[in-house]
Amino acid sequence: MDRFFVDKENIDLTSNTLFIYGEDIKHISKVLRCKLGEKLEICDKDNSEYICEIIDINKEFIKLSILEKVYIKREPNLKIRVYQGVPKNSKMEYILQKLTEVGVNEIILLDTKRSVSKFDEKKEGKKLDRFERIIYEASKQSKRGQIPKLTGVISFKEALNSIKENDLNIVCYENENTTSIKNAIKGVNINSIGIFVGPEGGFCEEEIKELEKNDVKSVSLGNRILRTETASLVASSIVLYELDDLGGN
Ligand code: SAH
Repeated sequence: MDRFFVDKENIDLTSNTLFIYGEDIKHISKVLRCKLGEKLEICDKDNSEYICEIIDINKEFIKLSILEKVYIKREPNLKIRVYQGVPKNSKMEYILQKLTEVGVNEIILLDTKRSVSKFDEKKEGKKLDRFERIIYEASKQSKRGQIPKLTGVISFKEALNSIKENDLNIVCYENENTTSIKNAIKGVNINSIGIFVGPEGGFCEEEIKELEKNDVKSVSLGNRILRTETASLVASSIVLYELDDLGGN
């Protein structure tokens, strides 16, 4: 069943109805060609989801009646914030899509010394809108219970200021050859983690030193060099696996 997200304020649980506004209207009526009586799965962006039936379609809104509330735990317990050294655009889009599927909570675009794709202020808004759209589509496809937050672009210094919010912070570093993610998170009780991943050219040594000085542990992802888009996906997956947070037994 196709999934859409609506803001809580558009859900009325006393009359068991909800409304879809904006760009999704076109998607539902023109692309999916949904008609009255057809069903959609609607999520409130905060882990509640409902099976609904379309009872009115027009250009301004789609009205649905709620048939059933669904109880499925979609979100991991762990909040993962990925600090992604900004790579070139197409890679960034891939990363946003994949990290959304895997279940991260926030993706932070990090400006690093070796980031090739520099954002210019004029185009930044448009680019971020497109990135948000990619996250939204991936959230629908992967049936997330929440839509990951996109933050950025932030400087290295700003990132260092924000890491205190995380219970633990790690940086994936290809020259680290002793500590694995498994080791870095062994025995610690964490609800949130920050994961730093460098851009195509990696972090420079001063950046790694600066991170380590701020208690960010360097970790290895193995004895091979992964591309940046592989590294953030692998690191997030390993963390969820090691904390037994992927669901199932
Ligand atoms: N500096 C390297 C490769 C950078 S790979 C070069 O140009 O040869 C891009 C990013 O992926 C790195 O900054 C790091 O965060 C992550 N990464 C890739 N392979 C890794 C590994 N084996 N262990 C830990 N991190 C890795």
